[in-house]
Amino acid sequence: MVKENCGVVGIFSLSGTNVVPMVIDALRALQHRGQEAWGLAIPNKTPLKKLGLVSASSSEFKKISEEYSSSAVIGHVRYSTIGKSNLENAQPLKVKDLCIAHNGTIANVQELANMVGGCSFTPQNASDTLVAAQRLVSLISEKGQMGKALSILKNEMVGSYCFTFISDDNAVYAARDPKGFRPMVLGHKESDDTYVVASESSALSAVGAKLQRDVRPGELIKLSSDGLKTEMFSEDNSRAHCSFEFTYFAHPSSNMEGANIYISRKKIGQFLAKKFPIRDADLVIPVPDSARPAALGYAQELGVLFDEGLLKDRYSKKGPLRSFIEPHQSDRIEINRWIIPIREIIEGKHVVVIDDSLVRGTSSKAIIKALRRAGAKKISMLITYPPIKFPCYAGIDFPSQDELATFTNRKEMTDEELTEMVRKSIGADFLGYNDAENLAAAVGMPMDSMCFTCSSGNYDSLGIAPDFKTRLEMKGE
Ligand code: SF4
Repeated sequence: MVKENCGVVGIFSLSGTNVVPMVIDALRALQHRGQEAWGLAIPNKTPLKKLGLVSASSSEFKKISEEYSSSAVIGHVRYSTIGKSNLENAQPLKVKDLCIAHNGTIANVQELANMVGGCSFTPQNASDTLVAAQRLVSLISEKGQMGKALSILKNEMVGSYCFTFISDDNAVYAARDPKGFRPMVLGHKESDDTYVVASESSALSAVGAKLQRDVRPGELIKLSSDGLKTEMFSEDNSRAHCSFEFTYFAHPSSNMEGANIYISRKKIGQFLAKKFPIRDADLVIPVPDSARPAALGYAQELGVLFDEGLLKDRYSKKGPLRSFIEPHQSDRIEINRWIIPIREIIEGKHVVVIDDSLVRGTSSKAIIKALRRAGAKKISMLITYPPIKFPCYAGIDFPSQDELATFTNRKEMTDEELTEMVRKSIGADFLGYNDAENLAAAVGMPMDSMCFTCSSGNYDSLGIAPDFKTRLEMKGE
């Protein structure tokens, strides 16, 4: 199985404005969804692809905007979960007259590859996006229409996907999977009559477009000189919005499914304070950056002092990056090394430290060590996400059980025993996890409309019974 969790954008200007500068800004506002590579595609041209952050190419923005000038464009930032971080695997990808950018996971990629004549898939050399694009193009040539092709492909394809496409006949398309695993929104910029679809509304804000609505799960949007057209390629009403987006992945300024991420995180902190009211704490600190609103919410709810006890170094090469989405463990360790405690705030205190998730335990261990070195008297760690016990096959990079901090090597454990095992391994004095009910209530969404598979192990929403593999087998490294 292959994963590509990323950020996607599609822009079409009805006034004929060159929207390439806009797609660059939009991608910069989605950088938190992928730090490894970025790219854009316009009709009738080979896609442009670059390694690294979008801002690393800033000296070329003017040249790119002139060379690729177009009123229709799609873009992509990449966070790879398989294959090498090379230019070949960066997106958009082009198949015949269609370019494609993808955020999600195609879980049955080998099966799909078998349906595409001449397409061989191995984890090392191919991307699930390419296989999906090849199958889609062959269905479009058979059925004559993107909507019809997607209505067939959705039955053949298992997984999560938000796609943007651009065709050589100057149309931009956006499609969201029937369960709505990954987010996607639609916006409009009135001043130059331009439509924008993007993974998150942070990208709309960056280009001055107004959020109109979420793209509906199972919806296909077409943007062309005829304006906006929409159709449903699936009538499935059950939803599985990724709950991890709400605690970690999404940008705090974004709105998805009617909820603002910053406010949701703050409420999660308030709910966490009711579950674990640690009243003898001297102060509450966040692990920067995603946990900040939750720590504030927790502190306000309990009336305990909130402070910044840990600061991310913004000046080292890796310091400003997000550790969890770095592809290599060595890079994740390097980033966490540059979260620096402030001794004057921490020393002699009982510190409640709030983090957004505990996946591999890498950052928690490093942070607790650093807090001890800074003289913390007692460290209670609270996690805004429930215990992650199972691999995600819907677009987030925890593909194997053996890399998770909760891995028990098939030994049966109660939740309490599991928490105690993790607490010991990270070196905290107390560890408390949020639960799914609490999280859904804080976000204000029905629990059964959210995906909690990585915590529950229930893969029904994906319709698979996975055969868990090691990371090495998953990644093909
Ligand atoms: S398994 Fe977890 S990370 Fe993956 S989509 Fe579901 S909630 Fe999100």
